[in-house]
Amino acid sequence: MHEFSIASAVVATAAKHAGGRRVTVVSLRLGALRQVVPDALAFAFAIVSRETVCDGARLTWESVPVRVRCAPCDRTSTLERLPLRCPRCGDGGVAVVAGEELEVESIEVEEEAACTA
Ligand SMILES: [Zn+2]
Repeated sequence: MHEFSIASAVVATAAKHAGGRRVTVVSLRLGALRQVVPDALAFAFAIVSRETVCDGARLTWESVPVRVRCAPCDRTSTLERLPLRCPRCGDGGVAVVAGEELEVESIEVEEEAACTA
């Protein structure tokens, strides 16, 4: 199930940025083309984050719709559904400009109670 490998990558990325602090929220950007099932990803995340700084963190996500640029029309459109075609002229040679995102947008970490810095 590819959600598990994604969840592992998300945990690794969040942990790297957390610098040892406890992560409370992880916010993602999920492109529609990635075909990630958010509930499956949240489930996988809860499992792979156990005993890491992300243990118990809340996973949130923003869905990024597919946007394509059509050279003949010189126009960028948002697609409601596949296939990847220009909704105006039907040209299939469109360039994907959004929708392939799968990134950690931000994390929130717990404030350290005892700061020794
Ligand atoms: Zn077009």
